[in-house]
Amino acid sequence: MRVTWRSVAVGIVVAGLLAGCGSTVTGAAARTGSTATASASTGSAGAGSGSGSPPNASPAGSAATDPGSATASPAVSAPPPLARMTVGIDPGHNGGNFSDPGFIDQQVWNGRENENCDTTGTQTAGGYTEARFNFNVASYLRGDLVALGARVVMTRHSNSGVGPCITTRAEIINRAHANVAIDIHADGGPPSGRGFTVLEPVADGPNDTVIGPSVRFGADVRAALLKDTSMPESDYYGRDGLILRDDLAGLNLTTVPKVLVECGNMQNPVDARLLTRPSFQRRLARALTAAIVAYLTGPVR
Ligand code: ZN
Repeated sequence: MRVTWRSVAVGIVVAGLLAGCGSTVTGAAARTGSTATASASTGSAGAGSGSGSPPNASPAGSAATDPGSATASPAVSAPPPLARMTVGIDPGHNGGNFSDPGFIDQQVWNGRENENCDTTGTQTAGGYTEARFNFNVASYLRGDLVALGARVVMTRHSNSGVGPCITTRAEIINRAHANVAIDIHADGGPPSGRGFTVLEPVADGPNDTVIGPSVRFGADVRAALLKDTSMPESDYYGRDGLILRDDLAGLNLTTVPKVLVECGNMQNPVDARLLTRPSFQRRLARALTAAIVAYLTGPVR
């Protein structure tokens, strides 16, 4: 399964490059994204923190209008599966949040109540931060999605900054008119508890029209994590790996289909061992990619 997927992805990248499909400002992508030029920065910036960066498949430098593509055979003319799709990725927290409590403690309106602009996130007993984990998985995920032709919008481009506020994160993805979006986190639960949980929005006004699609996407994320990773459903939080949350800005303020995933429990030694492993982070990203492809290209439900 894994090898097959990678082979397909590689084939798609090659076909995409030949066809100039990676241009992020063509066709529907440009129409749906009011700030189409912003995609240039989202496609190539912050390709990862240190080792294990995902392959930078952004073909931004390729000739989008290469006349040579006119000679392409039918075999390479099919668009990649996520062409004209925009995906929002919010890697929770930020590596610099620890250093600026004045900034992250400012109060913002999350759609139902005031809460902190951002938080530091949790970390493992060994000091591996959630912010770093979130950014690594997000970077791998972005690489996978770009390889499949998607335009990707990230809410932060490194793990060394502060913020942005959770309200700004929601706004960045809303403004990009993402077709779907995911907030990536890992939990700081009781040390005895294991597993992932998918957090889904509750209707509160701004998000009213995306509740159904978000729930469907949540089911895809849950199924992909169970199928493609060894992380079990949470045994301490939510039910069957799912929970509704009405107190998070990222879900309350979203106008695009979105869920938040707690990929595991950093306080649990077994989960922590998995979550800090680059190979497992890649595997998580691959599962999330599969969920996004299933949601965006699967049959209408
Ligand atoms: Zn978090």
